[in-house]
Amino acid sequence: MSQFDIHVACKECDGYGLIETRVSVDRYTQRDCADCDGLGLIMHTETYDSVEDAKADYPESFIRPTKWNTASVPWGAGT
Ligand SMILES: [Zn+2]
Repeated sequence: MSQFDIHVACKECDGYGLIETRVSVDRYTQRDCADCDGLGLIMHTETYDSVEDAKADYPESFIRPTKWNTASVPWGAGT
């Protein structure tokens, strides 16, 4: 098992990080999306056997192994 950082486009703002609100016929205001703090991505850290398993749960996402997890594996380990 290893940990993966899973970044999913925020549904609230469609990955833009901004929420546009119509205030009158031709006026809009924008504010940072509260769901993702204006990043446009929601980040999870979860444990899976492989990237494929993570991808099965989060088909539309960016997935990579958690940094500190891979960094803690010394080169040549397991050979
Ligand atoms: Zn958002």
